[in-house]
Amino acid sequence: MAKANRIYKTAVPVNKNQELEGEVIDITYQGMGVIKIDNFPIFVVDAIPGEIVKIGITKVLKNYAFGRVLSRIQESPNRAKNVDKVAITTGIAPLANLKYDAQLTFKQHQVEQMFKKVNLDVEVSPTLGMENPTKYRNKAQVPVQNINGRLETGFYRRGSHKLIPTDDFYIQDPKVDEAVIATRDVLRDLGLSAYDEESNKGVVRHIMARRGYYSHELMVVIVTNTKRLPEAEEIAKQLQVKLPELKSFIHNINNRDTNVIMGQWNETIWGADEIHDQLMGKDFVIGPNSFYQVNPQTTATLYRLAAEKAGLKATDTVVDAYSGIGTITLSIADQVKKIYGVEVVENAVADAEKNAKNNHIDNAEFVIADAPEQMVQWAEDGLKPNVVFVDPPRKGLTSELISAVSAMKPETFVYISCNPATLARDAVQILAEGFKIDGAIQPIDQFPQTTHVETITVFKRVAE
Ligand code: SAH
Repeated sequence: MAKANRIYKTAVPVNKNQELEGEVIDITYQGMGVIKIDNFPIFVVDAIPGEIVKIGITKVLKNYAFGRVLSRIQESPNRAKNVDKVAITTGIAPLANLKYDAQLTFKQHQVEQMFKKVNLDVEVSPTLGMENPTKYRNKAQVPVQNINGRLETGFYRRGSHKLIPTDDFYIQDPKVDEAVIATRDVLRDLGLSAYDEESNKGVVRHIMARRGYYSHELMVVIVTNTKRLPEAEEIAKQLQVKLPELKSFIHNINNRDTNVIMGQWNETIWGADEIHDQLMGKDFVIGPNSFYQVNPQTTATLYRLAAEKAGLKATDTVVDAYSGIGTITLSIADQVKKIYGVEVVENAVADAEKNAKNNHIDNAEFVIADAPEQMVQWAEDGLKPNVVFVDPPRKGLTSELISAVSAMKPETFVYISCNPATLARDAVQILAEGFKIDGAIQPIDQFPQTTHVETITVFKRVAE
């Protein structure tokens, strides 16, 4: 029977509402347990490898199905106890049901698997974790919705835009959670409405809060669909009372039909236009639209290791592509002769330039541009860096960027990645362009309790 199903691939071996027992054999990148019946995968929330569970099938598609746990017949010793169900069902913390050591192993395997898929044989070190892997996020971006006539904040149920109200985000700095709740309460008291995606009516879309880990400076941003934020001055007054750490209160407009949270237009209602935080002995200003690493504790480890692995010298010329507000550039500028950053967000580059000045760094230069285009330009201009750092968003590098790096012939190419799938894809081209991987790939747990993995990979140019 099983054999027949494997041959006739179209056969779907399960039906909706069917109940069955199975062993969980894997976890997906979304943090769901995988059970296979006659090789047909069923994805199940809150089920971890090694467990035998009884499930009910909730949805059947052509190549896979979804199920829900009815009972757990055999529990894994890796299961973490007393975890908030909301954290798991919403995807705030989809791996929170796994003990932390098992999370770190899962991430190491995740990286290994991605490289296997592209037929590259690499060594992956054990994941470097955090001592206290909760309450680490310095930033929240929380959707706002009207539920039963009340303005609520929370998190979307996985794979949907259905809001599940919650006060405890588990992985966020509790002071950031407190800022979100205080803002929600003020909005409720003053009778502001939540924006509704369906009808395109209402005012408030998101609340963003960010807090400096070292500075304790707090920024609150209210993102509206409307041009005006009603009661702006009164909100500012009440937030100052409720949040003594508040340094900056900003209104951001996003009136586009988009999943992007922040719009481009900001108005400072009260306080400063930005907050400060410190990282590796340097001071950084961070504006509302600028990217800033969400886990300040592991970020220091990440940058220190990346710099160490690059083996920087005082004579080096360095490029830092996807430089954000200049955190990597400025944390290593003291160790090299000259460093160039490139970043596409104009405000982030303005922050980076301020940061260079405030920290008395005069050997760093930042360019506002698309990183691939600028790398091609620098290659054409004859720039010859000894070391290139890249730290791209999840979609990874482009083929033209990799070719441009190759043309510049750096000895060392350090790739910091937040997505092992695109890293592995890019590694294939980087190796083909005359580099080899130096030592082991190092995963670092920047995002405990989630399935995200950060890695450092060092490529060295092979002598011609
Ligand atoms: N290295 C920085 C930022 C890394 S995040 C840090 O560690 O803080 C990735 C950055 O790439 C973001 O700042 C984002 O705005 C920028 N970015 C995204 N697409 C880009 C592109 N095509 N060209 C240049 N920068 C880009």
